[in-house]
Amino acid sequence: MVLLLFGPPGCGKGTQSPLLRDKLGIPAISTGDLLRRESEKQSDTGRLIDSLLAEGRLVPDEMVNGLLEARLAEADCSKGFLIDGYPRTVQQASHLNQMLEGLNFPAPVLIHMDVPDLVLIGRLSARWGCPKCGAIYNILSKPPAESGLCDLDGSMLTQRKDDTVHTAHRRLEAYKQITDPVLSFYTFPGVGQVIHVNAQQQPDGVFEEIKLAIEAELLAPVRLRLSS
Ligand SMILES: [Zn+2]
Repeated sequence: MVLLLFGPPGCGKGTQSPLLRDKLGIPAISTGDLLRRESEKQSDTGRLIDSLLAEGRLVPDEMVNGLLEARLAEADCSKGFLIDGYPRTVQQASHLNQMLEGLNFPAPVLIHMDVPDLVLIGRLSARWGCPKCGAIYNILSKPPAESGLCDLDGSMLTQRKDDTVHTAHRRLEAYKQITDPVLSFYTFPGVGQVIHVNAQQQPDGVFEEIKLAIEAELLAPVRLRLSS
């Protein structure tokens, strides 16, 4: 089983990924972790990654692909694995499928965690802070006693630019622009499958929904068309 876990910012993907790893007993791989791991090794590639990131540049696809291919060939991946937040472009997706075919894996199942935009925007813009004492509030989970005012000193709460509704909208738009072509790619028969789960529920409920979808898929696995 090859799972690709996708979801917009604020959907709870960071909670779901380790849950799937633990309950399904498969490794959860993220390209961020791969880059960090390589950088810690201080290999030639690792040092190159450090210098690229220090300059605020992107790590080239070929380098990420190479690290991913080596990782997928490791023993703990033999029964399947989950990749978190990758591929981010159709080129990367197409290359990933070639890698999977080479390693004799089935076509990937892309799991998309669906949450309505309005809910996400509410979550992403819930953080407010007190400019005077630095106290942090979350209007969904830890609201101040009196709306908009600090509990400790009564100051008017403010938001960082990153936490505003405007920024939340921009992040969701950026996510869709990047992800939509990848979702379309994986809906082609023989390339993969896309499963949408309702992620507007508790993490255990999301997990159950994903598990049912995977079980249904395992009864009828899709072979990669490339290999025929
Ligand atoms: Zn305060």
